[in-house]
Amino acid sequence: MRERARGRWRGILSAVGINDRFLRNRHGPCPGCGGRDRFRWDDKDGSGSFFCGGGGDSLAGDGFTLIQHVFNSNFAEAATMVEDALGGKESPRIPIQAPPPPISDTYSKARRIWLEANTDDAFVASHPYAKLKRIDRSYGAGRGFVSGSLLGQHEDCIIVPLKTPGGQFKGIECIGRPVWNAEKKKWETTKQTFGSKGCLILGNTLDKSLPVYIVEGFADAVSMWRMVGNCVAVAVFGPKKRQEFYANLFEQKNPDRRYIIVEEAA
Ligand SMILES: [Zn+2]
Repeated sequence: MRERARGRWRGILSAVGINDRFLRNRHGPCPGCGGRDRFRWDDKDGSGSFFCGGGGDSLAGDGFTLIQHVFNSNFAEAATMVEDALGGKESPRIPIQAPPPPISDTYSKARRIWLEANTDDAFVASHPYAKLKRIDRSYGAGRGFVSGSLLGQHEDCIIVPLKTPGGQFKGIECIGRPVWNAEKKKWETTKQTFGSKGCLILGNTLDKSLPVYIVEGFADAVSMWRMVGNCVAVAVFGPKKRQEFYANLFEQKNPDRRYIIVEEAA
């Protein structure tokens, strides 16, 4: 199959759902892990080859490796996708369902908002949400005005960067000013995500003896970190299922560490 694919990778890669704009021998964002100029598609000897500088861990390989990187799949899955794109061994070409785009439409908006956010400790801590949740400094977040379908025009937001566990930027969560709901007698806050979801990690991840608390949101991570002190707190920006998913992911990488899922920490 490798030989049948040679010289046809541009067609194969677009057929499996990788946007044409990534298929250039020039530095640009990676279809697998984003960034700005870490990726280049050089298609050496028609092998579909590429180079990705990643977040420090560089990766290079042929078209099969690229599909695995973009879709987080194993070799067998990548081979099936290529086989389908080539039209199968003898059967007529099966139309393949395009996977979701690897980079969300709002990724560049997220990136721009994050670059413009003010990350000054005192400024973040003076936001009404920070005051309500007793967040006393920036804890990796910023503050700025953001417009969005949920937030409305020019909302004064806390802006939390969302990253992969490896530290690659994925998107942002914007938290608006809390509004008092008199009927329910509680504060309500509008949150909106741009780009894709990721996590926020507080604390020293290199110290393997520290327990890792996996919590839902930004305020939870801050309160956990302040309460326990010597720990790592990971906000995963999602429900319990997402917390469990991350706990398993971390456990596979570092089975010796202690992982604790905490619901409603703040
Ligand atoms: Zn990459």
